[in-house]
Order: sequence, then structure tokens, then C-alpha cells
Amino acid sequence: MDIEGHINNLRNELREHNHKYYVLDNATISDYDFDVLLKELKELEDANPAFYDPTSPTQRVGGEVTKNFETVPHTFRMYSLDNSYSKEDLEDWETRIKKMVDGDVIYTCELKYDGASMSLTYEKGLLVRALTRGDGLQGDNVTANVKTIKSVPLQLRGDYPDLFEIRGEIVLPFDGFNAMNEDRISAGEEPYRNPRNTASGSLKLQDSAEVARRPLECLLYSLVGDKLPVTTQMEGLQKASEWGFKVPPVAKMATSIDSVLDFINYWDVHRHDLPYETDGVVVKVNNLQQQEELGYTAKAPRWAMAYKFKAEQVSTILEEITYQVGRTGAITPVANLAPVELAGTTVKRASLHNADQIEKLDIRVGDTVYVEKGGEIIPKIIGVNFEARSADSQPTRYIVQCPDCKTELVRTDGDAKHFCPNEKGCPTQIIGRIQHFISRKAMDIEGLGGETVALLVNAGLIKNYADLYILTADAILPLERMAQKSAENLVEGVMKSKEIAFERVLFALGIRFVGETVAKKLAKHFKSIDALMEATFEVLITVDEIGDRIAESVIAFFKTPTQDLFSEIPQGETHREVIERLRNYGVQLAISKEELAGQTDKLSGAIFVVSGVFTKVSRTDLKKLIEDNGGKVSGSISKKTRYVVAGDSMGPSKRTKAEDLGVPIISEDDFLSMIAN
Ligand code: AMP
Ligand code: ZN
Repeated sequence: MDIEGHINNLRNELREHNHKYYVLDNATISDYDFDVLLKELKELEDANPAFYDPTSPTQRVGGEVTKNFETVPHTFRMYSLDNSYSKEDLEDWETRIKKMVDGDVIYTCELKYDGASMSLTYEKGLLVRALTRGDGLQGDNVTANVKTIKSVPLQLRGDYPDLFEIRGEIVLPFDGFNAMNEDRISAGEEPYRNPRNTASGSLKLQDSAEVARRPLECLLYSLVGDKLPVTTQMEGLQKASEWGFKVPPVAKMATSIDSVLDFINYWDVHRHDLPYETDGVVVKVNNLQQQEELGYTAKAPRWAMAYKFKAEQVSTILEEITYQVGRTGAITPVANLAPVELAGTTVKRASLHNADQIEKLDIRVGDTVYVEKGGEIIPKIIGVNFEARSADSQPTRYIVQCPDCKTELVRTDGDAKHFCPNEKGCPTQIIGRIQHFISRKAMDIEGLGGETVALLVNAGLIKNYADLYILTADAILPLERMAQKSAENLVEGVMKSKEIAFERVLFALGIRFVGETVAKKLAKHFKSIDALMEATFEVLITVDEIGDRIAESVIAFFKTPTQDLFSEIPQGETHREVIERLRNYGVQLAISKEELAGQTDKLSGAIFVVSGVFTKVSRTDLKKLIEDNGGKVSGSISKKTRYVVAGDSMGPSKRTKAEDLGVPIISEDDFLSMIAN
């Protein structure tokens, strides 16, 4: 078969698997086999750019960077919904609509998904635009990001109209949300509060490759357009699913408000079994003709009504407030509650966030408190039953000392949290930092677990992570439950970690706000710890995706503290001293020679677009050469593009665009001599 045919077959096969996996939740191929096919396609596409197709499954990985999202008017306005809270509200609504339309009214009941509203436009079966709701009249163009969401079809199947919009909700299922939060916690960052805000925040990320990594889903429930081939809402859902969209399976017709209420009551309980957040039910008039007769108010359709679930609430006794110390020294107050059932789980603890929150709600030990599970995963205390408060109750005095090391806490302007400043002497912080250092995504030290770290610290054998490298089997053997073999394994595991690449070492150091991704960026940019340590704030913020907050944190980490002779806080080794020791022990503090070879700044920051077939180097290698020499690769030509590197059979539309914008088009040879010595 010819190459084009082969590429097309692979694309179709992968599209089919994508649809089965992400839309139908029914995979018929292993992840591994899928990746093998995808890799094969990617290689063929790279070698044959003439067959480029924006809807190819390889385009899902993202890579496009959007600095400012363009505002685009909605062709059809995106309305809000009126809310109802009771049977009476719904009956009033029914009375109003029955006066306005002829004939019987049948309703559809759907769940109200709590995410970010989205409007997708399809032309000739291809996704051409994705807009956020914005103010309803105009939204932000987030197409590049939405394309990376696997359940959004890039190309439709079946008998779809030439031009239409489909609306729905981008949601972040609980599982994925929790996994993202675990990563954040391991990077010493505050976890995200709730899936909805995280989903809408994700749509506005600048780097679509980052969006691609987030487990977002797109649920669609409403067709919009002129002359749609459907006459009812239910039929619309049916068709949308035939065309390849992920349509939520929960939707039911009801012929009376009573049966609407049955649906509501059922889902008020069972929604907790769903993989994502819902906050109510949306009742719609099923017949589209009737919908048209009913029309819209200034703000919402008259033919639809939201019914909001009450956030589940219970009251219980606050038994104790305890305080946790994080590895960065941040203090988090935790409410310990008399166990109580809430939304299907037993709740014993709730977060109190910080001192301000406790003061604002006047929360005291012994109080009867109201606990709610709303959009947030961790239940929260929303108020106190003051009538139930005993007469001798005392206001909560927030701790002034670290619960662990008894050092006086500090709070700096702009930080909601209190901190234990005893970085070098506070056992919880010391243990937490070393546990982070050895963790799987950091130094991945085999033979050493979190509990052993605590034993080692408590036995006085280590004070920081550099001390790990001078541990001997003999020294650790006396520890509880430590055998000769496990002691040797531990030492061996530590030695092996000297091979771990610099980017992971940088993550392991535990600089606040420097998670895995940021560590990678910094390692790639600065190439060595020395260059990073010398970088000023101004230099740091020029690096892609490094903002003020991260830059400040990096500077603070490497700053040599002025010795305070009168302080009672142990000052210990400075971070720079610890790093010098790591260097002496042989830990990787720069990117390796192999990686470094060929890396220069020659193209510093220039944006390149690569198009066509090349003869001397492959397309993939060409892109790598650009990046290794400090340039950036972009998928589409804009005013910011410095050069287009054109090979044979460069796409004609790219050529026209480059010429229109006056972007120089250079050949493979021109490029290679640009980076040659
Ligand atoms: P609100 O933002 O509270 O005015 O509610 C309106 C929003 O609910 C719409 O913009 C949709 O994004 C969202 N929504 C969630 N699920 C549905 C659904 N099944 N039908 C219609 N709208 C929904
Ligand atoms: Zn402390």
C-alpha cells in the first residue's frame, strides 16, 4: 500500500480506539498496543509532512503555546439557567410555560455537570473552534487546549450537519483531580481546592501540552444551529452520540413534574457514585418547536430550569483542633470531628485552612459545627451552632509555637499561613524534606522508605539529605528491625541515586513551588546548579513559565542567610553547603555531557516553524536541534515566528502565510549553517 493510504488507515484505526476508550469507556486494545500504533503513525507523519492532518490522533499531545486568548463573539448567545429549589418552584414554572405553548409538554431531565461551559463549532465534521462561555456574548478561544482533550472528537462520524455548534461542560473527574493534587502536595504546593475551578483554569493554560497531561473530559448535551436534523432534545442527545461525542448517559424523559421530582430525588442520592461533580438537575422542554415558542428572557431560556441540589450538610461536635507541619514549615489547622456520615462517607476531619478562617467563623473546641461537602473534596466547616455553645466556651487561641519543635511561629505579609521558621531543627520538617528527597519521582532511593527516614532522623544519624550519602551499613544496623541485608540494600540504594539526572535532583531538593515540571524547565534552561544559583530574579523570570512566585522562592532557597548570633534557632548547614556536599558525593548537579554536547544559546529564544520533508536530518532531529540551541518550535506561523525552515513539499498555505507576514523562509542547509561552529 502507498504511504498516504497507510497513514490514513493508522489514523482511522487510532480514532476508532480513541472513541472506544474515551467516549464509550470500552477499550478493545491495551494501552501498550495503542502507544505502539501511535508511535508508528507519528514517525510516518514526521517523515511525510505533506500528509499533515490537523485532526490526526498525533495532534492530541498539544505543544501550541497561547499567550493571550483571543476573544470571539458567540454566534448564538450562551445563556445562563434559572434556578429552582423546590417542588413549588417547578410547578410555577410549568404553569408559566403551559400558558405559552399548545399541546402537551414533555420534559427531559439531565444532570447539571459542574465544570467549565464550552461551545464547540464543527464545520464539515471538523472541530474548528472551542470557546468558553465568557460573558455569554463573547468567549475566549481555547481551541488549541480543547483539542488535547481525548473525548472531544476532532473529526465526526456519520451523518452530521455541515455547520453546527455543540455545547457542554469540561469536567475533571475526581480520580484525575486527586492524582493531580498528590503531585502538587509532593511538590510542596497547596492542593487545588475543587475540580471545577481546576478544570476552567486548565483551559486557560498557555501550554497546550500541559493541558494534554490533565485528565479532563468533555460532556456534551446541547446542539445549537440553524436547521438541525432533530426535533427534540432527546433526539439531539442521541444524534450527538452517533456523531462521536461523549454524551452523558443519564438523561430521562418525564411527562409530569412529579416524575421530574422522582428523577431529582433519585440523583440527589446516587450522584455521589458518579465519577465527577454534579450540582443539580436541568429540566428542559423536550420539543424544540415548543422551545422556540418559549424563547428566552434577558438571561436564560424559558424552556429550561435548573434544580439545585442542596449541598449535603450535617452537624457534629468539634472535638479538637490539631496542627500539621508540612515539609516547608507551613502550619495547617485540622478539625477533628465526632465521626459523622456525610454524602456517603464517614467524616472525621475537616480542613480549617488557616487562623483567619477560624477567627472569621469563631470556631471553638466543643462547638456543634455544620459540615458541608460541596464542590470541595475535603469537607469544610461552614458555621457554628451558637445556640448549642456552652456558657464556659473560650475563643480559640491559635497556636503560637510549632507543635513539634516549639519554635515561635511566624507569619509574613501576604501569606495566609503561619510557618515554623526552624527549618534546620524542626524534626517534622527535616523528616518531610528527606522523605520528599527519596521519593519515587525524586531520587527514587530503593531500600529506603518514609518510616526508616524518621527512624534515622530520630536516632540522630542524619540531619539532612546530604547525610544519607555517608551512612554506612554498620551505623544503621542497630536501628529497630534493621537486618544486615536491608542495611546493605539501603546503602546501595543511596549510592545508585548518584545516577539520577539533574532535573530530578533539582526537584528532590524541595524548593518551594519547584515541582517536577518546573524543575525540568529550570534544568533545561540553566543546565547546572551553579548557573541556577547565580541567576538573578530578572533572569529567572525570563524563563518560560517561571513567574515571580517561583523566582522568589528559588532566590530565597539559595540565599546565604545572615548568621544571627542571638537566635535560638539552629542555623545548621546552608543550602549551598548541603549542595557542595552532594557535589562531592557525586550527585548529578548538571545535565550530563551527552545531553550538554551540542547545546548552545545560538538561537536564543527565536521561534521556528518547521515544514516539509528534509534530506539531511529528520524532522524530529531538526526540532531537537532548534531546542538544543536555545530556540523554540511552534506549530503555526505568526508574527512572532522568526524563521520558517522549509523542506521539500512545504505546505502551500504555510508558504503564503509566511510570505504575508514577512517571515523569512530558510532551507535546511541555511539552518544547519546557522548553528554550525
Ligand atoms: P449557571 O452557570 O448556574 O447559570 O448554570 C448554567 C450552566 O449550567 C450552563 O452554562 C451550563 O454550562 C451548565 N450545565 C451543566 N449541565 C447542564 C445540562 N445538562 N444542560 C444545560 N446546562 C448545563
Ligand atoms: Zn517546628
